[in-house]
Amino acid sequence: MIGNRGHVVVIGAGIGGLSAAIRLAARGFRVTLVEKLDRPGGKMGEVRADGFRWDTGPSVLTMRHVYERLFRAAGRDLSDYLDLLPLDPITRYFWRDGATIDAVADEEAMCENIRRAFGPRDVDGYRRFMRYARRLHDVVGNPFLYRHKPGWRDLISLPLTDVLKIDALRTMHQAVSAHFKDPHLVQLFDRFATYNGSSPYRAPATLNVIAHVEMAQGAWYPRGGIFRLARAWERLATELGVEIRYAEPAQEICVQGGAAAGVRLANGAVIHADAVVCNVDYTWARQTLLPGSARADRLEPSCSGFVLMLGVRGVHPELAHHNIFFTGDYRREFDDIFDRRVAPRDPTLYLCITSKTDPEHAPAGHENWFVLVNAPFLSPNFDWSSEADRYAQHIRGLLIANLGRAIPLAEPQAMVQVERRFTPLDLQMAYGGHRGAIYGFSSNTRTTAFMRPGNRDRDIARLYYAGGSVHPGGGVPLVTLSGLAAAECLAQDLQP
Ligand SMILES: Cc1cc2nc3c(=O)[nH]c(=O)nc-3n(C[C@H](O)[C@H](O)[C@H](O)COP(=O)(O)OP(=O)(O)OC[C@H]3O[C@@H](n4cnc5c(N)ncnc54)[C@H](O)[C@@H]3O)c2cc1C
Repeated sequence: MIGNRGHVVVIGAGIGGLSAAIRLAARGFRVTLVEKLDRPGGKMGEVRADGFRWDTGPSVLTMRHVYERLFRAAGRDLSDYLDLLPLDPITRYFWRDGATIDAVADEEAMCENIRRAFGPRDVDGYRRFMRYARRLHDVVGNPFLYRHKPGWRDLISLPLTDVLKIDALRTMHQAVSAHFKDPHLVQLFDRFATYNGSSPYRAPATLNVIAHVEMAQGAWYPRGGIFRLARAWERLATELGVEIRYAEPAQEICVQGGAAAGVRLANGAVIHADAVVCNVDYTWARQTLLPGSARADRLEPSCSGFVLMLGVRGVHPELAHHNIFFTGDYRREFDDIFDRRVAPRDPTLYLCITSKTDPEHAPAGHENWFVLVNAPFLSPNFDWSSEADRYAQHIRGLLIANLGRAIPLAEPQAMVQVERRFTPLDLQMAYGGHRGAIYGFSSNTRTTAFMRPGNRDRDIARLYYAGGSVHPGGGVPLVTLSGLAAAECLAQDLQP
């Protein structure tokens, strides 16, 4: 029977909050979800203008099995809610020297693409690298990804051979360079550090596990756009009896006798509850929803992003659904982001065109370009409120120059018909993300995985966290796992 195990309030209808709500409702809790926006998905939103449509946040989906698990545990089949299409190629990569390669999930086809693009010398290295990334996944998966945060006791009990296999003493870049001779391929595999907002020159080699989840397990796109995923999560939650209240921002987590007892809304109303799950960015939540709680800014935020959504005249068959135009100086790009904390002058450009798969996302003869560049988290070193216009113009110019080197462009100066943008400042204001970070905290040190907050509050009983800033980290699949982990912790603590 719905609700016979107690009442839980979830704050935030991001993917973490929705996943927790779904799991809790499936386990028999009564769930009320309050969200300050008028839609689900948080960073996973959509924008429409002049016949164009863009996803505003995530564009690459990996780890399909995680979403299947969420639906299966609720007695449903994901494919009844979402049509997930495998992407082939996953990404088309372009370099300034004219080199290009399609990254594909089939290992033999990828070896052939490597041979054709860069000659035979790295084919064996690729096979070795993929075996290594798979081993990382086998070792890291259970203790670090698929359950709630491991305690020191769990870590100490790991066999020494597994600890060594985690490969935390090298950086990602060092491990990638040990497998590939060609600098293009080193850059391609280094790039996976950005999937959780980190630098390959600092993040531990453990993060090479990301290559396994994308290159061996594949990447997916929900027909209709990624925002469909948020709508699918919303539909399932509603079917399970979750009460979703949009445009109802929370103002305070009420604590009584050392335990979460409900949520006070901005309109003054209080929703009493047996437990609270907070999907708001951890640091932001502690600053704004838990007055007087300990500060939580010891960890380095992940990088942020600068997004241009362009409605473009013309159709470009040389481009794929996902495209990367690499900078000529990758190290400099990460130094700009994490050391100098300024928007990089010459960043790698990511270009996603969902109208390649869903033509109705742009008027006939046009494309919907989503351009993302990595940017530093907010700091006094770069003032987006005064620099955004100039930077947008700069990135547009860089994009057209990069594209012009790779493909024929008709009337490049007149291509862009519509433009919308998001700066790191917008990301902070829209979703309540600490310093505009996209993925919560960076993984730029060996200890971040252990320092990242867990899914249970350490001091306040019956308060749980789900989302990219807590275990196991950012990105849609991990955030879904974090919702599951928060729900499991809560269900354990509130055993009947
Ligand atoms: C530009 C961009 C590109 C990305 N690309 C990818 C990608 O390709 N692949 C990938 O896997 N991930 C990607 N990500 C990351 C991914 O979007 C996030 O990791 C994930 O969506 C975060 O989900 P979440 O539930 O942690 O938080 P959020 O999506 O931030 O949700 C938090 C929710 O809490 C709500 N909220 C905040 N304060 C309150 C309050 N006081 N009361 C009520 N509600 C409140 C917010 O409105 C929001 O809906 C990208 C993100 C961005 C921004």
